[in-house]
Amino acid sequence: MSNAILSGEGLQKYFQTRRGVIKAVDSVDFVMREGEVLGVVGESGSGKTTLGNMIVGIYPPTAGKVIFKGGDISQGAGHRSLEIKREIQMVFQNPSSSLNPKRSVRQTLEVPLSVHKTASSVGERVSELLSLVELPPEYADRYPEELGGGEKQLVAIARALATNPSLIVLDEPTSALDVSIQAKIIGVLMRLKDRLNLSYMFITHNLSLMRNVADRVMIMYLGKVREVAPTEEFFKNPIHPYTKMLLSSIPVVSDAEEAVKPEKIVSTGEIAGALNLPPGCSFHPRCPFVMEVCKSVDPPLLEVEPEHFCNCHLYPNDYKDKKAPWQ
Ligand code: SF4
Repeated sequence: MSNAILSGEGLQKYFQTRRGVIKAVDSVDFVMREGEVLGVVGESGSGKTTLGNMIVGIYPPTAGKVIFKGGDISQGAGHRSLEIKREIQMVFQNPSSSLNPKRSVRQTLEVPLSVHKTASSVGERVSELLSLVELPPEYADRYPEELGGGEKQLVAIARALATNPSLIVLDEPTSALDVSIQAKIIGVLMRLKDRLNLSYMFITHNLSLMRNVADRVMIMYLGKVREVAPTEEFFKNPIHPYTKMLLSSIPVVSDAEEAVKPEKIVSTGEIAGALNLPPGCSFHPRCPFVMEVCKSVDPPLLEVEPEHFCNCHLYPNDYKDKKAPWQ
C-alpha cells in the first residue's frame, strides 16, 4: 500500500502463565494509511489493547513485525530511537491513572517537551498545547484533582501532542468518561486529526462509535482479525458471522441505519477462555453457521470484495458463486 504509515506482519503476542500460554494476539496482519482513522473493535479479551501496546513498544511481539514508515520497529520501547518514540504516542483509557497527581498540567506537559526538545519556548508551547485541546491557558497551573474526567483526558491528549507525533494509538479514550462529555472529546480528537494531519489507531469496544469516526473498521476476536473494511462498506455489507452478531445487537438511531442492520444473530455458546482456545476457527463454539471444517481448520483472512477482508470458511474469494449452508 503506497501511503502506508504503519503495518503489522504476522504479529503475535503470547504470554506464558503458570496455567499455560495465552495467545493474546495471534498472526495479525494489517495496514494503516497516512492520515486515516483505523477503528480496532473487539470485546474484552479480543487482543485489541495488546495490539496497541505492541505498536507503541510497551510489549515487543513474540513473533512478526511492526513496520512504521518503512522501517522495522518491532523492538520494545527500550530499544527504539527517540525519534520513533516521538512519532508514535498513546492516549490511555483512564486519564485519572495516566496523569501524575503530584504534577501540575504545566509540569505534565513539560516532561515530553524537555525529553524530545520539540519547542524553543516551553512556556509558549504549553499554552499552545492547551489551546489545541480547547482548554483555557490558566489550566496550566491546575493539578489533576482540580480537573474533571474529560479535562484530564484533554490534558493527556495535549501531552501526546507535545512531541509532534504522526501516529496516535487511542486506547478506549472515552470509555471511562461520562456519556455527556464523550462527544466533546471525540470532537476535539477529530478536529486535531485534520488540523495536524494525524493518523489514529482507535481502539474501542464501541462499534457504533466507529460509524462516525473511523475510515476503516477492523474487528478482532480472540486475538485474530475477523473482518476489515472501509466504514461505509462495513456497515452496509458486514459479512463475518461475528460482525453480524455484534451489529445486530447495537441500537440504531435512524431509518437509514435500521435499513442496513443485519438480522439478529444469536450466539450458540460461550466465549472461549484465552487459555484454552478451540481448534480451527475459535469463534466456532458461538457460531450459528458452523460447519465441520470450522472445527479443525483456521480460516485465512481473504479479500472477498475490494478492500473488504474476512476470515471465515463461508467466504472464499469466489464466495458470491457459492451458497452458504443456510441458503
Ligand atoms: Fe462460523 Fe465457520 Fe465462519 Fe468460523 S469459519 S465464523 S465457525 S462459519
